[in-house]
Amino acid sequence: MKRITTLEDAFIHGLSDIYSAEKQLTKALSKLARASSNRELSEGFEDHLEETQGQVERIEKVVDNLEIKLERIRCRAMEGLIEESQEVISEIEKGPVRDAMLIAGAQKVEHYEIASYGCLIEMAKQLGYDDAADILEDTLDEEKATDERLTEIATSQVNEEALEMDVAA
Ligand code: FE
Ligand code: FE
Ligand code: FE
Repeated sequence: MKRITTLEDAFIHGLSDIYSAEKQLTKALSKLARASSNRELSEGFEDHLEETQGQVERIEKVVDNLEIKLERIRCRAMEGLIEESQEVISEIEKGPVRDAMLIAGAQKVEHYEIASYGCLIEMAKQLGYDDAADILEDTLDEEKATDERLTEIATSQVNEEALEMDVAA
């Protein structure tokens, strides 16, 4: 980690971390889509992949606008969250129970992102980077909407289907 002494350093560090996280997600989301048996869930992952690509571009836009330089770091938290989903895929057979677990994992990812962007937006405002705050706000809205969509898929379909697996077994 680079030496961090100012709020601007902290902002750049946080932005570098979430940039790494988003990049890792662009690789993971198509695997998650393929691993889901529920059609809506699978489409949800694919839609969010497209959004995530746009989110990466938003960060690049913020970097360009502010003429800052990102640290080259790897977000270990996202690495861990993605690893947990990979474990689910390799150990749980395809079906509603796996889907329920993939949703739980994906919601942890969204919450990590919501916390990260929430903090970055407040730091940006404090630093007087109002345009950056606005740009990152668009991403925050997408993360929140994705979290809600996942809850909806779980509660309207997947959790009940997963419970029925129990009866069938
Ligand atoms: Fe994201
Ligand atoms: Fe991180
Ligand atoms: Fe997301």
